[in-house]
Amino acid sequence: MSLSKDGQTPRILVVDDEPSILSMLRLRLESMGAAVVTTPRGGEALPLARTHAPDLVLLDVMMPDVDGVTVIEQLKADPATREIPVIFMTARDEIDSRIQGLELGGHDYVTKPFNTAELLARVRAALRVKALQDELREKNRLLEQLANSDPLTALPNRRTFDEQVFLEMERSRRSGQPLSVLLFDIDDFKQINARYGHQSGDEVLRRIGRVLAGRRRAVDLVARYGGEEFVWLLPGASAENAMELAEWLRRTVAEETVHTSEATIRVSISIGVSTYVPAEHGEVPTSALLEQADRALREAKAQGKARAVFRPLTLLEEAPPEEGFEELAGPYGPM
Ligand code: GH3
Ligand code: MG
Ligand code: MG
Repeated sequence: MSLSKDGQTPRILVVDDEPSILSMLRLRLESMGAAVVTTPRGGEALPLARTHAPDLVLLDVMMPDVDGVTVIEQLKADPATREIPVIFMTARDEIDSRIQGLELGGHDYVTKPFNTAELLARVRAALRVKALQDELREKNRLLEQLANSDPLTALPNRRTFDEQVFLEMERSRRSGQPLSVLLFDIDDFKQINARYGHQSGDEVLRRIGRVLAGRRRAVDLVARYGGEEFVWLLPGASAENAMELAEWLRRTVAEETVHTSEATIRVSISIGVSTYVPAEHGEVPTSALLEQADRALREAKAQGKARAVFRPLTLLEEAPPEEGFEELAGPYGPM
């Protein structure tokens, strides 16, 4: 019977101060297709677990240097080894109620002298659980990635951006450093789709995603904000810095070409820029910065597109009064 599953060789770390147990388990487990690492010292368990990333640890409880209870505490305290299942091996008369109750985070235990068939059955069960957990973790990671990014451009999506822009405003307030944003939209993109097809439109979006991904600094936040709208958040950038970058971006995108079998596509973008300067603006709602950039973007469109327009946060308008509320209220009260 083999312990390997889907062609994967399970890795098992065996920790026991008794050399005869180590060699017997190594022989048995290796003959069943596992890769086995052994140590007679409890003190070596954590470093070995960290370097070998085993799928399972078989752990003796009574050891002269560092005992099994201390070892499992070390394993559970380290994020790199926390998830590895542990099977305790202990003499029947030494069994600790905490091990029996698995309160220490052990997956299972066997009593010595053990019945090898039973031990191997428990090893198999623990490996099965570990494989399922790994699979689940990987699926969760993929789901998270899907939820946070845009599949077409692989850039973060709007949800991720909206979550993080708030933190950047806070950081800017504390550090006193300015925070700028570029919000841009492809000009006449509907015509691009209509003329060259949706696939070519998609390729244009991907290309712009690559321009952004290639130029962004580690502290920047870029995202696909909507259909053909992107956003670039620039911590530490002044209004002048941001406008220079906007000009670079406008030129770079204008020079990008996407080739189809019958045409070479070029697009222009319109960019709205705004900057938060904590000393000047004090407390403003997080949404204000993007709202100003959005207004600036609409001004850029109105002025004839293919340009960047800056709009300072000081031009923030009072929120319009909530008019029309009375009219909305029908005979049965507000909807
Ligand atoms: P404007 O210059 O005013 O921005 O004009 P526009 O044609 O770009 O106007 P609008 O913003 O109304 O149109 C956006 C178009 O972008 C409409 C939509 O079909 C297209 N679009 C949105 N998402 C995608 C996408 O993922 N792929 C492609 N190919 N097109 C998209
Ligand atoms: Mg557009
Ligand atoms: Mg648009």
